[in-house]
Amino acid sequence: MSKLEKRAAAPVPKDWTYAPAPEARDVVSLEERYGLFIGGEWVEPRDGEAFTTVSPRDEEPLAQVAQAGVEDVAAAVAAAREAFQQWSSLPGSERAKYLFRIARILQERSREFAVLESLNGGKPIKESRDVDLPLAAAHFFYYAGWADKLEYAFPNRSPRPLGVAGQIIPWNFPLLMLAWKLAPALAAGNTVVLKPAETTPLTALLFCDVLRQAELPAGVVNIVTGDGRAGAALVDAEVDKIAFTGSTDVGKAIQRRLAGTGKKLTLELGGKAANIIFDDAALDQAVEGIVNGIYFNQGHVCCAGSRLFVQESIAEPVVEKLKRRMATLRVGDPLDKNTDVGAINSRMQLEKIAELVESGRAEGAEIYQPPCRLPERGYWFAPTVFTNVAQSYRIAQEEIFGPVLSVLTFRTPDEAVEKANNTPYGLSAGVWTEKGSRILWMAERLRAGVVWANTFNRFDPTSPFGGYKESGFGREGGRHGLEPYLAFD
Ligand code: NAD
Repeated sequence: MSKLEKRAAAPVPKDWTYAPAPEARDVVSLEERYGLFIGGEWVEPRDGEAFTTVSPRDEEPLAQVAQAGVEDVAAAVAAAREAFQQWSSLPGSERAKYLFRIARILQERSREFAVLESLNGGKPIKESRDVDLPLAAAHFFYYAGWADKLEYAFPNRSPRPLGVAGQIIPWNFPLLMLAWKLAPALAAGNTVVLKPAETTPLTALLFCDVLRQAELPAGVVNIVTGDGRAGAALVDAEVDKIAFTGSTDVGKAIQRRLAGTGKKLTLELGGKAANIIFDDAALDQAVEGIVNGIYFNQGHVCCAGSRLFVQESIAEPVVEKLKRRMATLRVGDPLDKNTDVGAINSRMQLEKIAELVESGRAEGAEIYQPPCRLPERGYWFAPTVFTNVAQSYRIAQEEIFGPVLSVLTFRTPDEAVEKANNTPYGLSAGVWTEKGSRILWMAERLRAGVVWANTFNRFDPTSPFGGYKESGFGREGGRHGLEPYLAFD
């Protein structure tokens, strides 16, 4: 028996119980009710409408949050317009000082933000603490560095800011998406009105306190909360640019709405990434990459590796290893430091995942979920893998945005490329092989904005991120991320 076979035959440990290791929650102090942050002040929405934001881990009500109406959004845009003159005429090195301050304050208050992010959004604390917060701070640090070097970033092109940017973000990385949007816009000299997602407004609201601490001039950043109505009002308001991250359907609606208005637009939309494993790959590392690709943040990741393509000759051992690894994932309280897979963000999202999983069963795919005890209250879904999946199944075509993986196979590199590209999306892809030449060959042919090689879900502020096809257009991150916030003479 080879070493590999021996290991595969070893029994799966039955008990992975860890003693609870809850992160202290009292580091966060919440207001009972939040207004809108306009012109550096907290203001009540004109018609007084509010909604309750809950924790997805147990539906505990956390706070009352304002629903902005058309007039509130217009007031926020007017405040941003008023602040633009002064902000855009500051020397870049002065704007950089504010961004550096924001970055440092985020680092100092990172535990507080991480706990609130997990409480309001459901993601495991180890992810908010080790990924979301460090990356959010890194984005502000990175773009602070560009603020006084714009003419070097775009030589001979005389860059100037656009004016007021309207920014709309989703719920899967609430603070990180805020950082992705705000940092380049501010570095380039724009002022901003930002709308967080309705299920996760709290870290954006806490961030207003960071702006106050950093003494950012009033009106440079305004935060309006609410559901899609507030987003639609921002799209229609007197802004110069809309930056949207969210679903493809809403992105298309926004694009139609803005056609012919002259407002600039960038769209970061959905994805259905292929994670491709060749038979020469280091299989144990690849399995870690598969798990990270789809179960990180409960699969609420636009670039999640939700379609696994395995070379036919190694399909069996890979699936076997994957199932064994899945059995070790700890699903549960997002605030427990041992948790690997937290709560699903909302009831609506849970229903969407359940419906798509049901369609997978009905269409004939074979389902596997490791035995795990899910908490009784709150929104939960066990890590899931489907085998026997055909390309035409909904689970292989539609974005599930949950911890659900579809496994397909291929024989040749050409077939892998063809199958991987057979989707309306084109956000990201992963390739696992020991051959550098094959990585380059694949990367040239995969229609995806990001291609990871022998890794997955790696982010860095210096690296541009964005999509092809129905995954959107425009890039965030890197020097490319400045361009959508600049006009050139
Ligand atoms: P969503 O489109 O429903 O909502 C996103 C944001 O748009 C929210 O703030 C929402 O309130 C707002 N909104 C809703 N209707 C609107 C309208 N008519 N006009 C203007 N704004 C409106 O998406 P979601 O369910 O919150 O997020 C999940 C989606 O986001 C997934 O499809 C995912 O792939 C995508 N996403 C993409 C990226 C990326 O970088 N490409 C990153 C994260 C998430």
